[in-house]
Amino acid sequence: NKMIKIGIVGYGNLGKGVEMAISQNTDMELTAVFTRRSPESINSKATVYNLSEIENFKGLIDVMILCGGSSKDLPEQVIQISKHFHTVDSFDTHAKIPAYFDEVNRSSTENKTLSLISTGWDPGLFSMARLLGQCVLPQGEDYTFWGKGLSQGHSDAVRRVVGVKNGVQYTIPLEDALEQVRSGSNPKLETAEKHQRICYIVAEEGADIVEIETTIKTMPHYFAEYQTTVHFISEEELLKNHSKMPHGGIVFRSGTSASGSKQKIEFSLELESNPEFTSSVLVAYARAISKMSKEGQIGAKTVFDIPLGYLSPKSAEELRATLL
Ligand code: NDP
Repeated sequence: NKMIKIGIVGYGNLGKGVEMAISQNTDMELTAVFTRRSPESINSKATVYNLSEIENFKGLIDVMILCGGSSKDLPEQVIQISKHFHTVDSFDTHAKIPAYFDEVNRSSTENKTLSLISTGWDPGLFSMARLLGQCVLPQGEDYTFWGKGLSQGHSDAVRRVVGVKNGVQYTIPLEDALEQVRSGSNPKLETAEKHQRICYIVAEEGADIVEIETTIKTMPHYFAEYQTTVHFISEEELLKNHSKMPHGGIVFRSGTSASGSKQKIEFSLELESNPEFTSSVLVAYARAISKMSKEGQIGAKTVFDIPLGYLSPKSAEELRATLL
């Protein structure tokens, strides 16, 4: 049986997404799901175990896909699990990636396992687009726009405002900023000059909606610097129209070659479901990690260290014949 055997650690949005993504890849099978909660409470088609049982699967699972949260779960779980298994994760706290890499690298090198950190779309595919742009067009500017997308952190922030019963926040690129970048004029743009924020709020009965709006719009770091719009809607409308987790964005490299010719690269994603897409990326990288581990590679890796062809179920010969 040559199937790549996958384990899922943590069954939230990404955990569910990874289960779905594996079902679209015929060279992989899901061996087990591990959770800190009671296995009976998890609604998966796979066999579910408590995380404490994970070591019993040594030698039975090729790659563990870690689907915990970046802030608390992953830093702890990756160190424990990479002692026994090759791992893939989506750690996305950009500023902490170098320190996270060092720690994982120490642990996986010591234990002779292989760990890919921080894949997904940003970090992940967007990181690759930024790198490619900088290498091909050394003279130029990078731009990353996010959205239209539901931001978890900003949605949590509006839900904490007094008088707010429920709510969501979308980050949306500003059209005129996009236009300036597409024109090749290479403007200097801060994050707040590239994006606007739109909130859909369900207010508690009798709440002061003027005050809610002011509190949101003046919230430092989250909203104060941004063009922010607040819409008040009913609970039914929120459930009906704002229950999905869309996201996406655009990475640009806008530069010139030595004669002054304008050259532009644009890489964009429009995602109806952020977690389902991120999970599909994790699964493709799990295949690469399975291949590289069989070559005897160990230590921590990022997307920059993975040969692109290794993501594919096709052989190198097949790729040369069909995609070059
Ligand atoms: P969730 O909050 O849905 O899940 C995180 C963990 O919480 C799960 O692994 C699960 O662990 C636990 N959990 C989930 N649901 C419940 C529940 N109902 N009750 C109690 N515990 C629960 O996070 P996501 O899956 O949406 O995202 C995970 C991380 O992925 C994010 O922190 C984010 O940083 C990262 N990410 C990265 C992206 C990228 O492009 N690189 C893109 C999107 C996300 P357990 O089963 O053990 O209880």
